[in-house]
Amino acid sequence: MHQGISPDLQNLPADDHVHSEWSWDAAAGAMEATCARAVEIGLPSLSFTEHADFTNWTYGIDADIPGHWARHLEQGVLLPPRLDVEGYLACLERCRDTFPGLSIRTGVELGEPHWHGAQAGSLLGSAPFDRVLASVHSSPIDGGGFGDVGSFFDARGPAGVIREYLREVIRLIDGFDPFTVLAHIDYPVRYWPDGVRPFDARDFEDEYRGAVRALAARGKVLEVNTRVPLDRVIIKWWREEGGTAISFASDAHTPDALAAGLAEAAGWGRAAGFRPSSDPTDFWVRD
Ligand SMILES: [Zn+2]
Ligand SMILES: [Zn+2]
Repeated sequence: MHQGISPDLQNLPADDHVHSEWSWDAAAGAMEATCARAVEIGLPSLSFTEHADFTNWTYGIDADIPGHWARHLEQGVLLPPRLDVEGYLACLERCRDTFPGLSIRTGVELGEPHWHGAQAGSLLGSAPFDRVLASVHSSPIDGGGFGDVGSFFDARGPAGVIREYLREVIRLIDGFDPFTVLAHIDYPVRYWPDGVRPFDARDFEDEYRGAVRALAARGKVLEVNTRVPLDRVIIKWWREEGGTAISFASDAHTPDALAAGLAEAAGWGRAAGFRPSSDPTDFWVRD
């Protein structure tokens, strides 16, 4: 089975955070091709967790931003388009028919749902989502508007960005309950600047422990995102602070990025004291 696939790619955990063409920022996303890729590499299960973003980002009139994002600009403000739930679900059903041996879950990635509780709640009420991810991508700009967290490094410095990010994560956890998985708790690290001390989670141990403790208290799931491989020590702190389950996430926006880094991440999960549950396509649980 799965001939030609290297042994470490077998027994992959589910990839529970994948985007397709139904996410507004995934210009090269492709649900069907992503499912074909899953079958090819022996990935047993994946979840299409498309973006539902409600926060508008202020770029300014002269901002130079990628073409497929620029389509959603109005007067220098990016207005993320609504998720087409009906089209997305129909496409997903077609993929289930085409790939009957593959576990394909529905999902959504809610951006700052605690700031947009009514819209997020109404979206969740409109369709059955198997995986509800909550994310922080944005931060308020002094003087008005919002920006991507990655745009604040000059103004706040790397440590300031991380600390403010984790405070916002706690506000999310305390302010919006109907989610299951906290996505990419290390999101700002994707934008870490060159020429400064490299990111080390230990520099922010108190802040990270505080965030995962709040998450554990609510019975949520911590995501091990591999876009920037999550610092393993955070998975260890998660378990120590009472976390009971982890998910794995390539956060792929193209078919070829599916499951990237998941085999290695599964090793970190085991080392931190988690294992597959009785349903191998489900979240991993505490040993
Ligand atoms: Zn995200
Ligand atoms: Zn994502």
